Amino acid sequence: MYVNPRSPIKREYHDHFGDARRLRQPLKNREGGVPGGDPVTLQEIVAQCMRDSATWFPDKAFDLAFQTLSLCGEAGELANKVKKVERGSDPANDLFPGIVEEAIDTFIYLMDVFAILGVDPEEAYHAKRATNFRRFEPDPTTVGSGRPGVSGSVSGSPGEG
Ligand SMILES: [Mg+2]
Repeated sequence: MYVNPRSPIKREYHDHFGDARRLRQPLKNREGGVPGGDPVTLQEIVAQCMRDSATWFPDKAFDLAFQTLSLCGEAGELANKVKKVERGSDPANDLFPGIVEEAIDTFIYLMDVFAILGVDPEEAYHAKRATNFRRFEPDPTTVGSGRPGVSGSVSGSPGEG
């Protein structure tokens, strides 16, 4: 994905997440007074998201079409906020909390999709990353030779294809 180096979102990203140490110790649910334990694996988060969904929206929780549409809706809300910053309509600082909220809304629906599919996203991630590695990782024998170091197209993103 191309990221404009002058983008306020990019600067915000760096300001807020540039220090990855902050991500090593996430707040625990109990610290926020929310019941349900502190999942430590994605599979546990998948189960927790689906439990919440089944409790709060029992008629729709296991509906793949509904969850997928909801995922796309939240991704659209995320994109709309980023668009407003990119357009210059709103300061990045003002929209940053909302951008994070829409990103996590998207994440929650994605976890529900994995629950319905019965797939462990960690396993699926590692399998896909291995595919991407073979596809995109520069070939050390060709790095610096001026030739593309990957087989096939060098454009696009790891999620394509
Ligand atoms: Mg939302």
